[in-house]
Amino acid sequence: MGNEIEYRQQTESTTGSSCGCRGFPRRALAATAAEPKGLYLPASLEGTPRYPMNVITHSLLPVTARQCVELRAEKLPDYKQQLYAWAAIGLFGSLPDILNPHISLGARYNSYSHVWPCTLTVVAICCLYGFLRRKNDTAVVALWCALAYVLHVVGDIVSGGLDFFCTGQAIGDWWIIPELWPVLDLFFVIAFVLLHRRIRKRHGLEPSIVRVIRRRFYGRPDVP
Ligand SMILES: [Zn+2]
Repeated sequence: MGNEIEYRQQTESTTGSSCGCRGFPRRALAATAAEPKGLYLPASLEGTPRYPMNVITHSLLPVTARQCVELRAEKLPDYKQQLYAWAAIGLFGSLPDILNPHISLGARYNSYSHVWPCTLTVVAICCLYGFLRRKNDTAVVALWCALAYVLHVVGDIVSGGLDFFCTGQAIGDWWIIPELWPVLDLFFVIAFVLLHRRIRKRHGLEPSIVRVIRRRFYGRPDVP
């Protein structure tokens, strides 16, 4: 299933102009060293320094979406089941980057876990698991895991692009600029904490995890 194409840094584009990129080299897609097929990056990337994104938003976006859905339901699942479900969904939200860790955008374009065959395989396995366990609560969680993987791919498409169809042409662009990722990370961390507090309240538990830890270790929950 591997994407055998190779992205190689080059000093000149296929149009013959020199690469004037700052901080991020222009890359070309080539089937072989002798057969460059053309520029690959979305146009807006050229000449722009960019930074690798981390996995916080990838993980917490589907988790917070799941928390919102759970809060809208009349009855919450068992709290421990919720925690396991969030962990699984968060893991699948980062799975493309875990399966094939990378730093540069060029490496992401060449990543087997960010193309349709791998995405389809993961989604199919999750759906099959959901079907086989359809009488179990974990069936729905498996579908959320599939959604989390797809959201990761979509997130990468709107933030730099992907060679999702293995065609040698990126789809997507910097519609979400990398400079925004830390803001999104912070937003989703805060959203997760606040939603978690509401869920614990609905369960009749102490909303603050910090207080729980204090109580456990110091026996004084309200010490400032
Ligand atoms: Zn990724």
